[in-house]
Amino acid sequence: MQALEQKILDEGIVLSDQVLKVDAFLNHQIDPVLMQQIGQEFARRFKNTGITKIITIEASGIAPAVMAGLELGVPVIFARKYQSLTLKDDLYRSKVFSFTKQTESTIAISRKHLAAHDRALVIDDFLANGQAALGLADLIHQANAEVIGIGIVIEKSFQPGRQLLLDQGYRVESLARIESLAEGLVTFVKE
Ligand code: 5GP
Repeated sequence: MQALEQKILDEGIVLSDQVLKVDAFLNHQIDPVLMQQIGQEFARRFKNTGITKIITIEASGIAPAVMAGLELGVPVIFARKYQSLTLKDDLYRSKVFSFTKQTESTIAISRKHLAAHDRALVIDDFLANGQAALGLADLIHQANAEVIGIGIVIEKSFQPGRQLLLDQGYRVESLARIESLAEGLVTFVKE
């Protein structure tokens, strides 16, 4: 997606050869016009697939997921990063190893928002090792609902997440695919 790639080049900050900071438009300040375009692009790629719900994870998945939900006309559920204080029996839970925090945490969604007939689209801001996406897919499977695909705003294609998800049979649609962050430079996969 050209506008997204240009925004990454203009405003992304390469923190290391593994991590890109996009606080200027996605992870802290949010660019609503770009988010709308992102929502439209996800909707274009997943139109006619019968999606009934979008599932994402707080906080940074919410903006692109809501825009996609608006375009596709379906509700958006964001998994909460679960705390024992809110322990309840009516939750689906999954463990996720966080790439940025390097710790394991539990994510959860309420059982009442997902049903066995749902056809779910997973959306997240970044794809690195695939653990967040797999955790979200696990929540969907616990509800006996179907994962129709995984939509990613920024994929770091040099990390193993994409292949892991493809190997498990998921359709992966990434709007920007980064080939390398080496030497402080962002380069994209040529498609
Ligand atoms: P994964 O679960 O695929 O290993 O990592 C994806 C999650 O880690 C995303 O939800 C995102 O929050 C975070 N993440 C992974 N890589 C980056 C990165 O380079 N920059 C930022 N800002 N977040 C990242």
